[in-house]
Amino acid sequence: MQDGTYSRLLVEIQYMPGYRPSDSTLDQLRDFLASHLDKAQIIMLEPQEIPSGNREQYSAGDIRNIEQSHRKHYSEGSTLASYNLFVDADHTSDNVLGIAYYNTSNAYFGKRIHDVSGTPPLNPSRASVEATVMRHEYGHLMGLVNNGTVMQENHQENGPHCTDESCVMYFAMNRSNFFANIFDGSTPDLCSHCKTDVQAAKED
Ligand SMILES: [Zn+2]
Ligand SMILES: [Zn+2]
Repeated sequence: MQDGTYSRLLVEIQYMPGYRPSDSTLDQLRDFLASHLDKAQIIMLEPQEIPSGNREQYSAGDIRNIEQSHRKHYSEGSTLASYNLFVDADHTSDNVLGIAYYNTSNAYFGKRIHDVSGTPPLNPSRASVEATVMRHEYGHLMGLVNNGTVMQENHQENGPHCTDESCVMYFAMNRSNFFANIFDGSTPDLCSHCKTDVQAAKED
């Protein structure tokens, strides 16, 4: 994602009925991408509705099939295309709010996101949860933590995740049981270690 051959990043978003991400979510994602990636242009396409997949749960295989039938944009020339899919049910593995797969694709489990978000202060806002999960999955596409992007100092635990509990790359940031505990209203960002790794990858 930091690859210098691509000067533009395109963000395609599709959602099943009822699960369109909010405008505030998309603004927060754009801010995140603009501040951590060296792209001359970040193009956020208007979210597009697709039909329900009519499932109780979606496996990684289901998600790939849905992407294959609906995704419209692929990388071309100097434009790197990324894809985001909001589905209308849970992942087959409990508690997961989002997954990153292939090199440029993310999926989000809308029903579970709606369950953990709602009215502040009792629940974090829908936009905060959506933006946190989107940032987290884009962090994986950037190769964090130590998963394609070289780690400058050790800050890795629980797979490709960060040790810093306030970092958006902390492992629990895409788990529904974590959201009850955090949230002062702000959306987590990369910690200084993660920023350093992303910065070093750009300079490579
Ligand atoms: Zn993760
Ligand atoms: Zn971090």
